[in-house]
Amino acid sequence: MTGAALDDFRAGVRDWCREHVPKDWRPAQTGVPDEEFVAFQKEWFQELRRAGFAVPHWPREWGGGMPVPEQAVLYEELAAHDAPRLVLAFVSIHHAASTLLAAGTDAQRRRHLPAILDGEIWVQGFSEPDAGSDLAALRASARREGDTYVVNGQKCWASGAAHADWCLLLARTDPDAPKRRGISYFLMDMRTPGIDVRPTRQATGESHFCEIFLDDVAVPAANRIGAENAGWRVAQETLGAERGMTMLELAERLGGGFRRLVELCGRTGALDDPLTADRLAALEIELTGLRALCAKLVAADRPGPADASIVKLFYSELLQRITDLGTEAAGLAAHTDLRKPLSSGWESGAWPLDFLASWEWTIPGGTSEIQRTIIGERGLGLPREPREG
Ligand SMILES: Cc1cc2nc3c(=O)[nH]c(=O)nc-3n(C[C@H](O)[C@H](O)[C@H](O)COP(=O)(O)OP(=O)(O)OC[C@H]3O[C@@H](n4cnc5c(N)ncnc54)[C@H](O)[C@@H]3O)c2cc1C
Repeated sequence: MTGAALDDFRAGVRDWCREHVPKDWRPAQTGVPDEEFVAFQKEWFQELRRAGFAVPHWPREWGGGMPVPEQAVLYEELAAHDAPRLVLAFVSIHHAASTLLAAGTDAQRRRHLPAILDGEIWVQGFSEPDAGSDLAALRASARREGDTYVVNGQKCWASGAAHADWCLLLARTDPDAPKRRGISYFLMDMRTPGIDVRPTRQATGESHFCEIFLDDVAVPAANRIGAENAGWRVAQETLGAERGMTMLELAERLGGGFRRLVELCGRTGALDDPLTADRLAALEIELTGLRALCAKLVAADRPGPADASIVKLFYSELLQRITDLGTEAAGLAAHTDLRKPLSSGWESGAWPLDFLASWEWTIPGGTSEIQRTIIGERGLGLPREPREG
């Protein structure tokens, strides 16, 4: 698409946003019960779907096919018009879809991709106690019995599990094989008997994460994705999906959060303080750097081996710096209001809550320490850290 055609596309998205982005969703979604949040998210997803904006990154045959430059414009405009985020469908449209597209059978794709468009919600059941950064240490087991696997074990930190219909599940199918070679990958229906989901209450007051206890859960062998014991390779597809275009969207959203911070500092008079003005200027420069890094990442045919890690690390630490200043600028009164607009993400404008939540972001998809190791080893070619097994 040429510059002029891209401008036309932008104008169309702007018109659409003006007409369809709900104007009052921030106050209306503040402090609402979970069911209302879920209903709102599902409605917003369908609104985006009707416009062809829900899964622009999917292949055309499945309802996507939007070229990358248009996707970049779409995310810029959605952020500029302060559209709600697709928080609930994040794992479904990124992790589950990319895994199915890369490693699923035709039958699995036909079963699940249209269902995701109709609102099917997924959770990622990878982490376990003692198996987070060292994911290959996972112990949940899947024992084959005829056409079924019987699954036992415990998962933790599963985002959104309480609302999920299906789970991307990793379990050990060969306890005697080397750690990474004995793991299989399953699609597990969350309504199967033997599954117990227990929400974990967070410092922010939300219960976004859950533990999942699995007690003799029967998963049909047809729901295995990839070959038996080859689940580790499939899992890399899932983890890869957390990067790329998702970062482009998040960087644009962070820009929206930063604009709200500048407004706040203007309202409270903090902008008159030269030190605060200086900090804001430094943050804006960093934000410009982040957007440039994201643009480079999504434009690259073959990103460098550490590029995604650089963007994730920089984004998450910048989020901390922005919400840190926001918490300071919002003043003491803000610390007593522990409610935020759901559907907003990590830059909701409820600054103390955003600051707390910003620390979460340095953990999933690989902690900051792990990202630094990847950048050191794969990006800079430094000696590898000692590893076991
Ligand atoms: C917001 C959020 C959402 C999440 N969502 C999901 C989800 O939906 N599904 C899911 O399966 N999991 C999810 N997780 C779990 C997440 O993937 C793990 O928490 C993460 O992999 C870290 O593992 P851990 O908690 O076991 O910490 P550990 O791995 O025990 O790490 C503890 C500390 O040690 C450091 N460390 C560990 N190993 C090394 C090393 N080799 N070198 C240097 N430092 C090291 C870590 O960086 C960290 O600071 C989520 C977590 C968060 C915070």
